[in-house]
Amino acid sequence: MAEEQADWKKKYRDLAQELEQQERKSAETELQLRQLAGYMSVALEGENPQFDSELASLKPLLQEECAEHLGFLKKISRRVEKQIHSREESRSQQAKQTVATLLKWIRMLRTQVQNGGSQNLLDSLEKRSNDIEDKFYELPGLLGDLIELQSHIETGSENAGDIAASDFSLDTTATADALGDEVRILLKRIGAELLELISGLFVPKEETPSARELVKRIENGFELPHLPEIVHQVVQLVIKSTSNTSEDFENYLLELSSRLTEVQTFVVDSRQVQQEIGKNQHDLDVQVRRDVKKLHHTVKNTNDITDLKKAVSLQLSGLVRAMDSFKKKEEERETRLQGRYEDLIGKVEEMEEETRKVKAHMEEERLRARTDPLTGLPNRAAYDEHIAQEYERWSRYRTPFAVVVADLDLFKNVNDNFGHLAGDKVLRLVAKVITKNIRVTDFVGRYGGEEFVIILPSTAVAEAEQAMDKLRQSLENSPFNFHGKPVGITMSFGITEIKEGDSLEDVFTRADKALYQAKEDGRNLVRTK
Ligand code: GH3
Ligand code: MG
Ligand code: MG
Repeated sequence: MAEEQADWKKKYRDLAQELEQQERKSAETELQLRQLAGYMSVALEGENPQFDSELASLKPLLQEECAEHLGFLKKISRRVEKQIHSREESRSQQAKQTVATLLKWIRMLRTQVQNGGSQNLLDSLEKRSNDIEDKFYELPGLLGDLIELQSHIETGSENAGDIAASDFSLDTTATADALGDEVRILLKRIGAELLELISGLFVPKEETPSARELVKRIENGFELPHLPEIVHQVVQLVIKSTSNTSEDFENYLLELSSRLTEVQTFVVDSRQVQQEIGKNQHDLDVQVRRDVKKLHHTVKNTNDITDLKKAVSLQLSGLVRAMDSFKKKEEERETRLQGRYEDLIGKVEEMEEETRKVKAHMEEERLRARTDPLTGLPNRAAYDEHIAQEYERWSRYRTPFAVVVADLDLFKNVNDNFGHLAGDKVLRLVAKVITKNIRVTDFVGRYGGEEFVIILPSTAVAEAEQAMDKLRQSLENSPFNFHGKPVGITMSFGITEIKEGDSLEDVFTRADKALYQAKEDGRNLVRTK
């Protein structure tokens, strides 16, 4: 019995000892856990105000015995668990945002560096940025490296004032270049249009040198600011080259000058837009420089990772906002300009159509102005033009030509005896006979009244004399009649050929003198000089 009792006592002692040991252990564990919770709550402080107040109510409990507060602790624990969960979520979102911002920054930097070394460095910075989500603690180091590279790029430029402008100007210059291209194409089209217009003109001799110069200037291409002056010169040339300006043509000139005004307005506006782009870019530069400076300052002076993270993500999103607003403004501007440009192209197309019409109209006018309405033959103006070309060929290549002045004999009698209408009919018939009897390459015109003029290219006097005598005979033998009555028609001819030292007028005067000789010698004759 005593043995049994002793055994029980020992068991009791052992159990008591074991319990005491376990109590000590658990007290020690509780102390450790409380300390750990204390440390962690300090570490978690400042995350957000709600979380902070939970942690504040937890703090006194961590310094006391926990047993009687078990229910309260459980409650706090559940709330803290929730907080931590949502904190994790927002943290991961922020991290993603930070990564996106970093990648955007790196893309921007890529546009500013050319050399392979810097591009490699950017590759590695990009890789590190992608890892930041899981290694947020590496953010300060990464930011430091990015800032260093950015300032390296800035100081690497020759002119510090231009750096920021070039930093973010890539898109803008592309816009400006695209605009420049468009204007260049537009100018080419207008230039082609003007050349086309000039080519349809009969430029008077005294205007030829300035017209040639103008054509050369347009062919070589010109800048936008010179357009008004060039169009003005073209218009002046057109006016000088057109003897009778029709209403249509005047309208065309008015139209041309209104188109010109539009082009000018476009030029002025696009210049203004260029200036706006410059200002917008400058504003962005200032903002970016300020933000990067702030970032630099923050990274240098903030030791606390939470503060740093907050400040950095705030500043980075400010930077992104500035970039976005810059891009938006540029895009709006580009769309606006593009619209105006397309409008202008439409107007230029209308102008092209107008030019085509006016050119055809001018051609008609020109032909009419050079045609004799009675006989349908070229008139004196056409003769002047033709003989000038022939003379030019002679001056250059010494290609000879003969000039004939022919006059109906005693034509006054025809009018007097048969009336003016009979005279007109005779003139028309004479024109036909002459045309039939000369070569296609020869030129015949009605110089005035009953006087005709013939140019025979590559022909010497003797040859021309033979040809004109044949024509004289043909006319003499033509059965002219009026109301059944035969009307005798003959013609006298004066011939000469171009000679060394002749002026244009000299040739004509000599042929006229030969004609006078033919009249003197009895009419219906061919005389040469
Ligand atoms: P000559 O042999 O000396 O040339 O004598 P002519 O009578 O031909 O010369 P003159 O210069 O004396 O007269 C020219 C006439 O030609 C006068 C004018 O009535 C006539 N004439 C000139 N143009 C026209 C015209 O368009 N129609 C008609 N019917 N007659 C014209
Ligand atoms: Mg006559
Ligand atoms: Mg005459």
